[in-house]
Amino acid sequence: VSDRTTYTRVLLKLSGEVFGGGRVGLDPDVVKSIAQQVGAAARSGVQVAVVIGGGNFFRGAELQTKGMDRVRADYMGMLGIVMNCLALQDFLEKEGVDTRVQTAITMGQVAEPYIPRRAIRHMEKGRVVIFGAGMGMPFFSTDTVAVQRALESRCDAVLMAKSGVDGVYTADPKKDPTATRIDELTYQEALERELRVVDQTAFSLAAENKLPMVVFSMEQQGAITSALRGERIGTLVTP
Ligand code: UDP
Repeated sequence: VSDRTTYTRVLLKLSGEVFGGGRVGLDPDVVKSIAQQVGAAARSGVQVAVVIGGGNFFRGAELQTKGMDRVRADYMGMLGIVMNCLALQDFLEKEGVDTRVQTAITMGQVAEPYIPRRAIRHMEKGRVVIFGAGMGMPFFSTDTVAVQRALESRCDAVLMAKSGVDGVYTADPKKDPTATRIDELTYQEALERELRVVDQTAFSLAAENKLPMVVFSMEQQGAITSALRGERIGTLVTP
């Protein structure tokens, strides 16, 4: 196991929950720190695409339990994601990093539409591309979107930045105190041992298309920069 991989292009998935610092809305200190870390990696030459969640605003499944129609609630979730994207774009540009937001739901005044080949072109020019509004379709999670966008924009890996957990464990560390973190495993092993890495759809898509995945905690100082630079961190899931 080498301690570093050199990525040409990677996709970073950030949970929306972190953007809110645990509350509804935005925590500018958190977004700023994320922007600084992404900026540092982008400046060192790695091409970066980002997918953000929207858990700090709305989750469709949650609104459904409160009586809303699931489809409409999911669209609200996707619109929430766009606010996170604009916030990250703002802080990235303050760091001097050229950034483009592309949304799966067209909203020409605030972002470009999702055009995969153009996104690749942006990244080749050193711009960070943020893919917003999820897949533009209800019933999908942003984990799945992250894998799909990584595949379509030909990223070398998808990096799942998690909050509260620093990788894949042998069991649920919240329930089993003997659970230990796994440094590296294959999709096949994760399946056989029934380890929940990401949601099932995201998992299948990545496994089938042989996309390496890194699951790491973003709480550690500088973790995002390390992950983007290909340093060994968290758990590596290989095809
Ligand atoms: N969503 C959706 N389709 C997508 C991506 C997201 O309908 O392709 C909606 C869904 O309601 C989801 C919400 O947007 O609950 C926010 O995304 P997610 O829950 O994945 O955010 P995270 O947990 O990463 O913060």
